[in-house]
Amino acid sequence: MGNHLTEMAPTASFLPHFQALHVVVVGLDSAGKTSLLYRLKFKEFVQSVPTKGFNTEKIRVPLGGSRGITFQVWDVGGQEKLRPLWRSYTRRTDGLVFVVDAAEAERLEEAKVELHRISRASDNQGVPVLVLANKQDQPGALSAAEVEKRLAVRELGAATLTHVQGCSAVDGLGLQPGLERLYEMILKRKKASRAGKKRR
Ligand code: GDP
Repeated sequence: MGNHLTEMAPTASFLPHFQALHVVVVGLDSAGKTSLLYRLKFKEFVQSVPTKGFNTEKIRVPLGGSRGITFQVWDVGGQEKLRPLWRSYTRRTDGLVFVVDAAEAERLEEAKVELHRISRASDNQGVPVLVLANKQDQPGALSAAEVEKRLAVRELGAATLTHVQGCSAVDGLGLQPGLERLYEMILKRKKASRAGKKRR
């Protein structure tokens, strides 16, 4: 996975060297967050036991001249008591990855509520969002376009950069292009905020 991201490094030349980017991976339980992380970490599908609550798996993917992207995984939904906890962990994140099980249409409404709640939390406003419509290897999985519609991603607001990507932790398809788009969105936001500061 490093190759593609390394090729993109020139566009990141304004990023201070050794700056680490922090990305939080959230989604309902069983969406496939841990499996996607393991795919990134070990480059293969690792059968995992679905975690209830939160899982603080943290991995670092090296990229260009930066120290890499750290991914941290949190389950959300159905656990009111844990909310204040993960909220404090999503603070000041560079990007949000929201994972949904595209083969489980019945839970997309619940996922939509959580996605909008997280993205609109004061600390996360304007943070780029990559939605991963996972489990595309499953027959009947909804397409990225359908997931985008059902989650009302476009209603997250004009100030929030978003992208919806179909993917599968089983074969790894879609993961790389999705992360590249997230990286581009993070750089775009950083550039815009630097330009905004200069004007002030
Ligand atoms: P988490 O709770 O979001 O971390 O979900 P897990 O990564 O533990 O995955 C939940 C279940 O879905 C596990 O049984 C995984 O093996 C399975 N799973 C995860 N990703 C995929 C995928 O892309 N395709 C298929 N078919 N199964 C997946």
